[in-house]
Amino acid sequence: MARYTDAVCRLCRREGIKLFLKGSKCFTDKCPIEKRNFAPGQHGKDRKAKIVGYGLQLREKQKAKRMYFTQEGQFRNYFEKAFRTKGVTGEILLQQLERRLDNVVYRLGFAMSRRQARQLVRHGHVAVNGRKVNIPSFEVVPGQEVTIRESSRKLPILEQAKDFASHQPAPTWLEIDRDNYKGRVLSLPKREEIQLPVNEQLIVELYSK
Ligand code: SF4
Repeated sequence: MARYTDAVCRLCRREGIKLFLKGSKCFTDKCPIEKRNFAPGQHGKDRKAKIVGYGLQLREKQKAKRMYFTQEGQFRNYFEKAFRTKGVTGEILLQQLERRLDNVVYRLGFAMSRRQARQLVRHGHVAVNGRKVNIPSFEVVPGQEVTIRESSRKLPILEQAKDFASHQPAPTWLEIDRDNYKGRVLSLPKREEIQLPVNEQLIVELYSK
């Protein structure tokens, strides 16, 4: 599937909720969801049918997939792996998404959105245990240290992100040292530690058909 390159706010309008894809704009009244909370497109306003069954399951999957910026095949692989792992499939699926390096960079407050975090990783500004890693889907494990590389610490977006993150709650499964652009994974996140407006059970039902 091709990479999505259209305006990301349309994705929020499609799902009818804030997916927080644009950083600080998402918290202002410039957010399109505040003014135009209906599906994009010419007939978006007219489509008011209640979504049930398969449609509901599909929307939950789309929400999660879009929030983490994963593509369909990759998202399905996460599910397959979660399904084969012992434990609650939905929780393991979310755990895998949370452990992505771009998400961890975002959760540590080094970026204002997952998209920005992904770019930081891709451009080689992030290191894991002191070694540069430029793969956004890299899965971190407990004990690993995630840092912004010394040579990248003067980037203006890091300062903006630090200010932005100081108003956000810090995840309990991560140890954060924002002044030194460092963080450590303390444990795998439990479901209650993952702030996500998604019903993962519906995603499991969708893929289990
Ligand atoms: Fe979504 Fe943020 Fe755009 Fe609002 S500003 S529609 S929350 S991406």
